[in-house]
Amino acid sequence: MRQFLTLLAASVCVAAFAGGAQAADVSVKRIECGTPQAPTLVNQRFSDTYSYGDLKLQFVYSCYLVKHDDQYLLWDTGHAMTTPNVAPKVSIVDQIAQAGVKPEQINFVGISHYHADHTGQVGSFPKATLLIGKGDWDAITSPKPAEGVNFKPFENWISGGGNVQPQALDKDVFGDGSVMMLYTPGHTPGHHSLLVKTSSGNFIITGDAAHFRENYDSDGVPAFNYDRAQTIASVERLKKIAATFNATVVIQHDARDVDKLPAVTAK
Ligand SMILES: [Zn+2]
Repeated sequence: MRQFLTLLAASVCVAAFAGGAQAADVSVKRIECGTPQAPTLVNQRFSDTYSYGDLKLQFVYSCYLVKHDDQYLLWDTGHAMTTPNVAPKVSIVDQIAQAGVKPEQINFVGISHYHADHTGQVGSFPKATLLIGKGDWDAITSPKPAEGVNFKPFENWISGGGNVQPQALDKDVFGDGSVMMLYTPGHTPGHHSLLVKTSSGNFIITGDAAHFRENYDSDGVPAFNYDRAQTIASVERLKKIAATFNATVVIQHDARDVDKLPAVTAK
């Protein structure tokens, strides 16, 4: 009997490889995760080499909904609805509702890093498995979280009420290589970016590995980053991965990148 089962298992495996298992249906859409303010002078805060003169750029706040067959990954959770001035006009829960998705359908919430403009609404998805860089999770759960570590919205997971899987390196979210969290430290200790392979193209969603196009192109480093050398190495890694997979790079805070992906609210 055991022999038969082993044989059966082997033949199923062979069939899966030989037949080329049906690729998952993967899509990614943008969620508005804050209200943009006036254009920002980027020279000082966003360049530790003061490289950008009087360049002013329009920043935005973006999150993303990745659909993998009937499973969902929410990437980043933007500003809290209570944040002065920059709170989104419509919550993530209400935006994804327009796409027919309920909070309890979100299997995974992936967090690029612990800053407030990426973590504000994570508490709206308590049933989701939290995927976050180990370095950032360690900072969130430290007895005295450092300034800038937005630990409060993670109470559900800190207290053991939710499932959390801290990631030391890359994470293949659905196990088929189509959606990968990429370890890109530097902005924060455990920062991650996201690679999404869809039938309409491959995308790298940067998190804050870079804040705007000029920063990405010229290896610029914001003055407040955690580690300068890691930041540069991570951007170099992203450029190579983008070349390998012919991926479109989407910078979450750059208004010029908003149209690279459809809005989750679009009909
Ligand atoms: Zn950040």
